Amino acid sequence: MNSGQSLAELIPGLTRKPRLMIVDDQTVIIRMLNEIFKNEFEVSMATSGRQALDMCAANPPDIMLLDVTMPDMDGYEVCTALKADNLPEKFPVIFVTGRSDVSDEVRAFEMGAVDFITKPINPVVVHARVRTHVVLKLQQDILRSFAMKDGLTGVTNRRRFDELMQQHWRQAQRDKSPLSLILIDIDHFKQYNDHYGHQAGDKVLRDVANAMRLVLQRPHDSLSRYGGEEFACLLPGTDEAGAAFMAQRLLESVRLLAIPHEFSSSGSLLTISAGIATVIPAVGQTASGLIAAADEQLYCAKHDGRNCVRQVVLSG
Ligand SMILES: [Mg+2]
Repeated sequence: MNSGQSLAELIPGLTRKPRLMIVDDQTVIIRMLNEIFKNEFEVSMATSGRQALDMCAANPPDIMLLDVTMPDMDGYEVCTALKADNLPEKFPVIFVTGRSDVSDEVRAFEMGAVDFITKPINPVVVHARVRTHVVLKLQQDILRSFAMKDGLTGVTNRRRFDELMQQHWRQAQRDKSPLSLILIDIDHFKQYNDHYGHQAGDKVLRDVANAMRLVLQRPHDSLSRYGGEEFACLLPGTDEAGAAFMAQRLLESVRLLAIPHEFSSSGSLLTISAGIATVIPAVGQTASGLIAAADEQLYCAKHDGRNCVRQVVLSG
């Protein structure tokens, strides 16, 4: 890797400084490392393992330089705790140690470290290693975010929806909290495509997705492209009243686009239909049961004239 290139050149699409966390019980080491990295990185610092773990839970870094020898909780213990914790993202850990035993090095790699640097710290070495690993990490992040997105509409894709559904289902089970799913279908989309052409149809899919995405407010609410002209809105922690309100706002956001659709049986503008299912997951219930129930309600909304919402609450 050419160290003359800036990180932005190495990672196209990078819109912020990478975050580096330095963990060491000696402030003199922290200061020295901060001097090396402060221009290129957003640096955070912790002087104990416990503090590092708390900071990671709130705001995980892109890479960590972790001292092995610290009182109370050593670097190995921090690394083990990081692996056990269900952190929102994983990041590479580079161990920094005064011990240069092969067995220490082996243990570091067994613990899941990506690299190992010995004290006294050589600024050129630490800089090169951190850059190498942070570039790999951020490139992977970018690839992963592409793999989760629907290419046409920019909302999350079906594969990501399936993951989110499993994740929120387990969370709702643990918390005994409601989980709502809205399945949405564009009314008479086939006729639209047939009469206005596929390019116009693609534009409608993008416009509808964008309008609906703006309706979502909370960080854990998600909108995914579920199928051809079908979308799925997953609302953790939302009961039936909240989901009904959200569905009405989704319908309205599409009506407000005022897309002419002269070949629709339900008026002259393009509309959507929505089916909602809400559940507090109980033993024996499954996420696919929730999807099937929302799908059935969507079918009812279509059957009842489209441009409307139908809803069910599944009992535990
Ligand atoms: Mg130390």
